[in-house]
Amino acid sequence: MKQDQPRPTPRAGIMDIEAYVPGKSTAPAGVTKVYKLSSNENPLGPSPKAIEAAREVAAKLDVYPDGTARRLREAIAEVHGLNPANIICSNGSDEILGLLAQTYLAPGDEAMFTEHAFMVYKIYIQAAGAKPVAVKETDERADIDAILAAVTPATRIVFLANPNNPTGTYVPFQEVRRLHAALPKNVLLVLDAAYAEYVRRNDYEAGIELAGSSENVVMTRTFSKLGLGGARIGWMYGPAHIVDAINRVRGPFNVNATAIEAGIAAIRDRAHIERSVAHNEKWLAWLSAELTGVGLRVTPSVGNFVLIHFPDSKRHSAAAADDYLSARGYILRRVTGYGFPNALRMSVGTEEANRGVIDALKTFLKS
Ligand SMILES: *Cc1c(COP(=O)(O)O)cnc(C)c1O
Repeated sequence: MKQDQPRPTPRAGIMDIEAYVPGKSTAPAGVTKVYKLSSNENPLGPSPKAIEAAREVAAKLDVYPDGTARRLREAIAEVHGLNPANIICSNGSDEILGLLAQTYLAPGDEAMFTEHAFMVYKIYIQAAGAKPVAVKETDERADIDAILAAVTPATRIVFLANPNNPTGTYVPFQEVRRLHAALPKNVLLVLDAAYAEYVRRNDYEAGIELAGSSENVVMTRTFSKLGLGGARIGWMYGPAHIVDAINRVRGPFNVNATAIEAGIAAIRDRAHIERSVAHNEKWLAWLSAELTGVGLRVTPSVGNFVLIHFPDSKRHSAAAADDYLSARGYILRRVTGYGFPNALRMSVGTEEANRGVIDALKTFLKS
């Protein structure tokens, strides 16, 4: 024992973790109207039915929630045609990603994700004491052959964000199946489908069938991108043995009472989800075309955001654009930590926000 230490010390590796930096939510002083386009929230807001359900539960906040979130699991199962016993709900899907790392990784193990992948994977892998392995992408998209080439006897988890954030690119499901077929059976494939509802592509699947028919695949989902980011609701669907293991490790009341009630109301409000998806489909296409039109490269996105690349000039860099837009109330996301020092990620916003950003960028690029 380290009894000569002057104070408690974190486990080896913990202090190597770079803490997650969330998207900004405030504008510089003096800006009156703020358009938060930095966290891929739903510009249509929460389902009105979820708001009502959250209000109702407020009067009963003295009572512990159902620790198994049974009614929320049943609502999710009904909508997606799943067995509720194979679902675990969580405090945002972030929590589930962390629980998977904590449960399946030990020091000496390796876990993989791709070059520009969502950053929480690396954090949770390091927190579990395992070795994070970042695999090169091709054209800002996960490269299945590169992932397979990086598998070693120490590999335990492959995290695949499909579609990925912050690129917005996706891997056709045939490619995901090819990855699964070639992975060793003891490697867990985590399909993070946080943006699944927004994808409008015939060759895309979130992974329900694969997770339902394999012993080493789970799919994770979230309510955050559909209007409930503040409620923190995520869920995982996977084989019984993984559900059993995670249920031993998770907090006994990891999903709070407000989240449970708001979540049940939100997932049953199909009209609100359809409106949100239709709004996104229209404005994602509009934004992509307008941005390209003003001479900026945009990574082709199927999510509810776009990754905008700026020219290699100091005057028109991503940092300069960020300052310019922030001063006018448009809060986008810097993505330097994701390997894009000269790009900004912009969530699809309201019509007013989308038009405002394009107008501002036109003036900015002429300046
Ligand atoms: C937003 C996001 C999540 C999870 O968000 P939660 O709010 O924790 O549910 C997971 N994966 C990706 C790729 C995301 O962009």
